Amino acid sequence: MDAILQSHVQGPVLRPGSGFSERFSLITSSKLRGRDGVSRFGCPKSGACCVRRIRGGFVGVGSSSGLLELVPEIKKENLDFDLPLYDASKGVLVDLAVVGGGPAGLAVAQRVSEAGLTVCSIDPFPKVIWPNNYGVWVDEFEAMDLLDCLDTTWSGAVVFIDENKKKYLGRPYGRVNRKQLKSKMLLKCISNGVKFHQAKVIKVIHEESKSLIICNDGVMVQASVVLDATGFARCLVKYDKPYNPGYQVAYGILAEVEEHPFDVDKMVFMDWRDSHLKDDVELKERNARIPTFLYAMPFSSNRIFLEETSLVARPGLAMEDIRQRMIARLRHLGIKVKMIEEDERCVIPMGGPLPVLPQRVVGIGGTAGMVHPSTGYMVARTLAAAPVVADAIVSYLGSDNIIFGDGLSEKVWKDLWPINRRRQREFFCFGMDILLKLDLPGTRRFFDAFFDLEPRYWHGFLSSRLFLPELIVFGLSLFSHASNASRLEIMAKGTVPLVNMIGNLINDRED
Ligand SMILES: Cc1cc2nc3c(=O)[nH]c(=O)nc-3n(C[C@H](O)[C@H](O)[C@H](O)COP(=O)(O)OP(=O)(O)OC[C@H]3O[C@@H](n4cnc5c(N)ncnc54)[C@H](O)[C@@H]3O)c2cc1C
Repeated sequence: MDAILQSHVQGPVLRPGSGFSERFSLITSSKLRGRDGVSRFGCPKSGACCVRRIRGGFVGVGSSSGLLELVPEIKKENLDFDLPLYDASKGVLVDLAVVGGGPAGLAVAQRVSEAGLTVCSIDPFPKVIWPNNYGVWVDEFEAMDLLDCLDTTWSGAVVFIDENKKKYLGRPYGRVNRKQLKSKMLLKCISNGVKFHQAKVIKVIHEESKSLIICNDGVMVQASVVLDATGFARCLVKYDKPYNPGYQVAYGILAEVEEHPFDVDKMVFMDWRDSHLKDDVELKERNARIPTFLYAMPFSSNRIFLEETSLVARPGLAMEDIRQRMIARLRHLGIKVKMIEEDERCVIPMGGPLPVLPQRVVGIGGTAGMVHPSTGYMVARTLAAAPVVADAIVSYLGSDNIIFGDGLSEKVWKDLWPINRRRQREFFCFGMDILLKLDLPGTRRFFDAFFDLEPRYWHGFLSSRLFLPELIVFGLSLFSHASNASRLEIMAKGTVPLVNMIGNLINDRED
């Protein structure tokens, strides 16, 4: 498997030990063995991993048990743009250097440049289409006027609680057209005068009113403000507390299949059924302890994205374990895979501490602790937060009373993580701590009650729209919808996390 490792930054094929891959590569070492002796995935430091391989000239085996042999060739897709390049020889000081050209970085670059400030965007692969298969709730993208960046939408979603119970969620869901979204952002950046530099940033040196960003090609970019938007790589942003996230791990394929049993009008948000494991005692038992679910986007009767997902576990579940469960599930559902267009292996760190607040380098997205600790979602929240970060930079840097250096960064961090957002995140981490402790029956009971809530509660929870007072009502409402068994379980397993959360809330004073 080593030979097919590829970083989530879509670089060339990398092998463990090749330097750049050290942060991103998937780890299968015996050091990562979990409490049941099953090897786990995790990332050195914190990096999320996404290994994606794309359609190639492979010959299908025609059965899901042959899934592992369906190995498409690796192909990275570049956007056909001429990017205006940063001229390092001139040594120009830019207002903002954005390190990382993912959705978060480009969204800020676009908005800051729109206001007339000078921006340099630095990424090792600025033209490569982002690798992740993003799903979002349609209303989230509608609110940002980004409906044109969804390539498929479903009128609703379905959740299979178990063999006998399923719930319909009347909330449209969409798949992000990442080519369209990146193209749209890049075009706006280009027309606003953003300059691009293709390199990996390795270090930053701060002076009183400017920072020097050192790249791996020896180029130095000078900027008044530095934004670290390197996702879970967390290239420059500093943390001062032990990093102890949970991990969402998933294995997904975009596949051509003979047929599948799902309604093409609804995406499968979660399928917690486990009857596919009835003949495999060991897998069934592992799944009962740390469950995985199927997430599926049916595009047509014979084209579908299927992802077996561990919602959150600490340490993260082994990818091989997840693939075995997926193979068993597809076999049971009668899904015969004819061809895999893409596959993705995903490891997302969730929860854990926030970065040092404030600090000189500003952050957004994965670097800034913005992934939803209970769900692993981030793209909509990050895109919605980009204007907050951008407008803060513009207002403090572009005003008559210019603030530089540490003072400016402090204000930007304050706008990104005001007390209400920090309290909200604390609550979401509490949610994650409960989910970490639930086995399959507990998880089923939890989601059974969760999706019975009034839509404004579960929509608001999933889309980070509820703040602490509403979250308390949400929690009480969830408790009242829960079965007696679930209430007992929440009390037993949630008391310590609850006490921790209250302690953290008390310690985190209003600024
Ligand atoms: C496989 C996978 C699937 C996901 N699916 C979803 C989903 O369905 N919905 C959702 O909301 N979220 C999803 N996520 C979470 C997802 O990571 C974020 O939503 C989104 O990618 C965050 O954007 P970002 O810009 O913060 O970081 P990223 O998209 O990770 O972008 C970081 C950028 O930084 C660059 N970079 C890294 N290191 C350096 C360096 N040293 N110097 C310069 N540049 C650097 C990289 O090249 C990359 O372009 C998924 C994550 C993974 C891994």
